[in-house]
Amino acid sequence: MQVYVEKQKCTGCSHCHDVCPVAVFAMKDRSAADVNGDVAPEDSKWKGTSDPAVVSKWGNVQDGHNHFADKNDGASGGISVAVNGPSCIFCQACLVQCEGECIVITDDTGAVYHSVYE
Ligand code: SF4
Ligand code: SF4
Repeated sequence: MQVYVEKQKCTGCSHCHDVCPVAVFAMKDRSAADVNGDVAPEDSKWKGTSDPAVVSKWGNVQDGHNHFADKNDGASGGISVAVNGPSCIFCQACLVQCEGECIVITDDTGAVYHSVYE
């Protein structure tokens, strides 16, 4: 199993980190040296700019999350990095709770799954 986050779409909500039973995700400050420490392809790496459509959707939502904050405060903020993708058991919990619809999982047959927020 391979897992990555499309970093420019990550709101920092931390849902993936909170629901994953096998600790695939780590929340990092956006300025952290290892913020691109997963298998995301070049066009999904964090380069300092969030996707405008995702910012428009979530930037002003008041739900207690520090959307798009640089630093993770222990509950939200920062950016998610799939540091432990090979441990994924494909429970699919993260695939329906990702605000930015930015988690991509590839299984061992090569099938690719994108998160869709529900
Ligand atoms: S599908 Fe994989 S990465 Fe997502 S929550 Fe389940 S075990 Fe974790
Ligand atoms: S659930 Fe999606 S938007 Fe929220 S922190 Fe994880 S990857 Fe980012």
